[in-house]
Amino acid sequence: MIAGVYKFFEQFFSPKATNIFPVKRVPSSIKNLLAGGDIYPPIAVHDGFRGKLHYDYTSCIGCAMCEKVCPAKAIEMYPVVENEKKSKRIVIYLSRCTYCSECVNICPKNCLSMGKEFMLAGFDKYGPAMVVGSVERREHEVKEDSGA
Ligand code: SF4
Ligand code: SF4
Repeated sequence: MIAGVYKFFEQFFSPKATNIFPVKRVPSSIKNLLAGGDIYPPIAVHDGFRGKLHYDYTSCIGCAMCEKVCPAKAIEMYPVVENEKKSKRIVIYLSRCTYCSECVNICPKNCLSMGKEFMLAGFDKYGPAMVVGSVERREHEVKEDSGA
């Protein structure tokens, strides 16, 4: 009994680990709710949280270590030309990613990192928000048979 009362007060005064989200009561339209942006802000995530991957295109050397180690086959290589030499760069399909961080750990150039963003739900799993590096791919990809 005393242990239960102690636990109650301990948890009552502890920092919140979660919150009412996204609103207090079920809305008539989730779509309108998200479009309006009138939701409870989520509480801060802890250090080391594995959220949306970040990719530094300019530091990447196209070594493909991340692609090889990815258990979810979420990383795809594409050809580029850098300093007049053929190389490769990556895109990451977040819809396949399991957020294991293996690619981050193995990258020799530290160009991958796990961010804190976790609100990733959307309608297009192949859109720019869900394919990390897709903007750079549009700018830099070359066709393999272009002779570049
Ligand atoms: S975090 Fe894991 S699953 Fe996601 S891209 Fe990296 S290695 Fe693949
Ligand atoms: S491991 Fe790092 S340097 Fe190598 S291709 Fe992947 S992101 Fe680029």
